[in-house]
Amino acid sequence: MDLKSLIRNIPDFPKPGIVFRDITTLLRDREGLRFAIDAMAQTCQAWEPEFIVGMESRGFMFGVPLAYQLGVGFIPVRKPGKLPADCHSVEYDLEYGSDRLDMHKDALDPGHRVVVVDDLIATGGTAKATADLLERAGAHVAGFCFAVELCELGGREKLPSNVPIVSLVQY
Ligand code: AMP
Repeated sequence: MDLKSLIRNIPDFPKPGIVFRDITTLLRDREGLRFAIDAMAQTCQAWEPEFIVGMESRGFMFGVPLAYQLGVGFIPVRKPGKLPADCHSVEYDLEYGSDRLDMHKDALDPGHRVVVVDDLIATGGTAKATADLLERAGAHVAGFCFAVELCELGGREKLPSNVPIVSLVQY
């Protein structure tokens, strides 16, 4: 299936010069949605995760159905102030300023095998911060899976070189 044709391109959103790759049009297409989750599941199954870790908020949209399909649990990584229990936190740099990601401390035990899922990898800052969070928890990252990869931004270079990285659609 041509997943790229289901992703809508919005020029100059959220600011001039950015082409926003809108995955809502993929999610609303029942065949596209099933194909995307099945393709992710096929790849991730081989990595034998015990949990899927997804980043707020579009990582949830792919991560939860993927976890369901694989028969494993889902762990949310969230923006500051959203998770109610004790958290590991990692700050990371944005183009302007910085941001933080949180994950519950009791979500994972040291050695747990996880796969990290997000809708899209651009600069890789979000995925790298998540990898740092998981390192803090002592978890083992068995792979990264993205629906979309913006290759020219080189995001995958920020991630550990010994961990597999798969994307369904590349720009
Ligand atoms: P980054 O941390 O730079 O890899 O950015 C990843 C996050 O930003 C993803 O979770 C995307 O949801 C969002 N994002 C960045 N660039 C785009 C884009 N061109 N189109 C849609 N989403 C984007």
